[in-house]
Amino acid sequence: MNAAAKETLGFQSEAKQLLHLMIHSLYSNKEIFLRELVSNSNDAIDKLRFQALSSPELLAEGVELAIHIDLDEEAGTITISDNGIGMNREDAISHLGTIAKSGTAQFLESLTGDQQKDAQLIGQFGVGFYSSFIVADKVVVETRAAGSEPADGVRWTSAGESDFEVESIEREIVGTSVTLHLKADEKEFADGWRLRSIVKKYADHVSVPVMMKQLATEDDAEPEDEIVNTAKALWTRSRTDVSDDEYGEFYKLVSHDFQDPMTWSHNKVEGKFEYTSLLYIPAKAPFDLYNRESPRGLKLYVQRVFIMDEAEQFLPLYLRFVRGVVDSNDLSLNVSREILQKDPTIDSMRSALTKRVLDMIEKLSRDEGTYQAFWDEFGQVLKEGAAEDQNNKEKVAGLLRFATTASEGPVQNQSLAAYIQRMQAEQEKIYYVAAENYHTAANSPHLEIFRKKGIEVLLLHDRIDEWLMNYLAEFDGKQFQDVARGELDLGDLDNEEEKANQEEVETEFTGLIDRVKELLGEGVSEVRITHRLTDSPACLVVSEDDMGMQMRRILESSGQPVPETQRIFEINPEHPLVAKLNDEPDVDLFNNLALVLYDQAKLAEGTQLEEPATYVSRLNKLLLDLAAG
Ligand code: ADP
Ligand code: MG
Repeated sequence: MNAAAKETLGFQSEAKQLLHLMIHSLYSNKEIFLRELVSNSNDAIDKLRFQALSSPELLAEGVELAIHIDLDEEAGTITISDNGIGMNREDAISHLGTIAKSGTAQFLESLTGDQQKDAQLIGQFGVGFYSSFIVADKVVVETRAAGSEPADGVRWTSAGESDFEVESIEREIVGTSVTLHLKADEKEFADGWRLRSIVKKYADHVSVPVMMKQLATEDDAEPEDEIVNTAKALWTRSRTDVSDDEYGEFYKLVSHDFQDPMTWSHNKVEGKFEYTSLLYIPAKAPFDLYNRESPRGLKLYVQRVFIMDEAEQFLPLYLRFVRGVVDSNDLSLNVSREILQKDPTIDSMRSALTKRVLDMIEKLSRDEGTYQAFWDEFGQVLKEGAAEDQNNKEKVAGLLRFATTASEGPVQNQSLAAYIQRMQAEQEKIYYVAAENYHTAANSPHLEIFRKKGIEVLLLHDRIDEWLMNYLAEFDGKQFQDVARGELDLGDLDNEEEKANQEEVETEFTGLIDRVKELLGEGVSEVRITHRLTDSPACLVVSEDDMGMQMRRILESSGQPVPETQRIFEINPEHPLVAKLNDEPDVDLFNNLALVLYDQAKLAEGTQLEEPATYVSRLNKLLLDLAAG
């Protein structure tokens, strides 16, 4: 095929879907097309500058790197041009015709069809180049890659429906220009004043100059180009000179988010290592927060030269929701990802930045309402830190929030410090129960004795919780204790009289214990009298070293082999059904009742029965016996 030939190609199906959605849900955020296009031009210039570090011939002496925005009111077009890295034909086809973000298909599935909600989601996804089609019904991109010949220019044209055209063109200059042919009802954007105010709003903190023609002068002189943005990297300015609005707009520029950030922290560090960081916590979690492969991290600059996006070495994985920039004075300009991984400077920057973020979160936690909003978005990820970050374990644990038997409903709003304050005088441990959902945790039979004694218990119901508890042995010198695990030892919370009483009951019921043990055989490791139940007849307990049930379910559902664990079956001598069992001479009746109690103990903790139908028929037999008197 002749390279100059015009070809028509289809958009990748995800791209097509996204295009369609964007046009139909972003009508109240139309202006962002400008931010996206200017940001692409800025990226292209950053990339060229970066490549020129090793190939200086790419950047001719005296060339001023800049973005131009031109307007043709009569034709109804806006053109955004840059003299950055440019694209060759293949680049244009793949970069402008497909979406490279991983997880796009799942993202699209997660959309609701509700335009307002979808607009939010798309905002977090990052709309990019395709936002042009919110206001334009035809987009023409002319581009030429740095280092290529004038004959290697490319023209890419699309109406944004299902396909685009590419053809080779002669192009004198390197870089890209994007021309938007505004839709009939979007001509309002073809207005110098309007456009300028949008540029001010969305592109002020682009560090490259954005040039526009002067607005009409009174004496009808030919208007000249002038810079319309601040064109100074925001983080290099002093904190007191930057307004909240400016911080907010800069955040939107680096994150492509629509919303203002929840909070930020801007710091210049001097001394052994010199760097500036500007870190943001978004208001909403990104759509791919749980996709471990998604690129994440800070934008890295070295002495104000852009080096890379998504430098993930500066923060631990559990702080992956943080956005922002770090600008180092010490790193070399040709630093690579590989070097970053080995450089000891990075380690100390990483621990300082981690502390900084934890301080930001700590500050948020001083206001309950704000912190709840933070927790609902990012709490699950923060829990990873309490398990993984050895250096900051206690600090992160202090930021965790839980539902407890003292709080209302599934909302996680109690700190460990508050729990410890409410502990009873003789209480030594922090008690918790872990289950698949809040309801199962809150209604666990294991809580009965704690309710009776008025001891607060943490109700853990996130998937990650039991895993977390494997790593979080103690907080503020207090050990954690799973109430469904091991012998229940309430320490001094039980008085002498209660202890003596327990021993007496145990001897009284040895006969029953043996009969049940024989019936259940290998199914359980032990049968014993319980001290933790008041209302339920029986429960199941994990022994001290075995895997918890919640953890088991997670592993099983991820298809991993899980070793069988035998559990301890505990029965409540105070319960009338257990008393009945103790007095039951008929072997069939005894077996039926004991097995029903055993299955019920599983049901109460949220375990699925292996043979639910057998359980139902046993129970029905008992009911019939009852009915027959
Ligand atoms: P993103 O910027 O997040 O990668 P976009 O949809 O905004 O996504 O852009 C897609 C890609 O198109 C960019 O990554 C870049 O490779 C290419 N591109 C867009 N605009 C330009 C430009 N002005 N100069 C060079 N390449 C560009
Ligand atoms: Mg972009």
